[in-house]
Amino acid sequence: MKIDKEKCIACKTCYPYCTVGAIFLPKGDENAKSEVDQDLCVECGECFRSGVCPTDAIFMPELEWPREIRPYFANPYAGHWHGKEGAKPPPEIKLNDITGRIQEGMTAVVIEVGRPGIGTTFREVQKVCLALAEVGVVFDPGGPLTSLMEDPRSGKIREDILDERCLHVFIHFSVSDANLGDSLKALREVSQQVETVFSVGLSNRVGEDGSIPTLGIAGEAGFSALPHTKTNVGLGRP
Ligand code: SF4
Ligand code: SF4
Repeated sequence: MKIDKEKCIACKTCYPYCTVGAIFLPKGDENAKSEVDQDLCVECGECFRSGVCPTDAIFMPELEWPREIRPYFANPYAGHWHGKEGAKPPPEIKLNDITGRIQEGMTAVVIEVGRPGIGTTFREVQKVCLALAEVGVVFDPGGPLTSLMEDPRSGKIREDILDERCLHVFIHFSVSDANLGDSLKALREVSQQVETVFSVGLSNRVGEDGSIPTLGIAGEAGFSALPHTKTNVGLGRP
């Protein structure tokens, strides 16, 4: 995003609308106009969409690669990154009764890197992916992030986008209950090394006896479930 200096009146009205605090007034010049920190801006479009600028000074320039990737991981109106192969996220877990993607003994894991309110770079996302690949995680083969990996087996993301900033990136994979503990331990370790935040979502089928094996495994790895979990009551049919 950019600000037209000819139009800006430095009123700062747009500042609270920036999701990552990227809009600023340069110091030391009493005639300075507001600017967007181009490194920090994740191209979410919020400042522009809000329509708060009294002089229409905020504008979206055409983005070139690799910056072009930013809105796909920040702007809800940009949709998902599709890539050449038509990448798309896995079906939502709440549709599992219909898709049957996750069977008993399996856990679907989704990690959201960068949110709330911090953002991240693909370099930080890569740290998480490398740590997971080390313990044998197989990333969702058709997913947007996987399509941006040089080698999905190693978790290495393509070099040219590593320093691009984004608001949040989802890492999707499924894992057997036997291997879930190792994945969670790897996540706990890498959480100390990333310069951002991430949350971990786990979904599994409740056993016939009402047991939820994932909870015990997560507990052993040092994770506790938040109370606002979702339960799908199983009314869907394939
Ligand atoms: S596009 Fe988003 S991140 Fe960039 S300046 Fe506007 S609100 Fe801030
Ligand atoms: S709202 Fe518009 S005029 Fe005011 S500081 Fe932001 S860009 Fe400049």
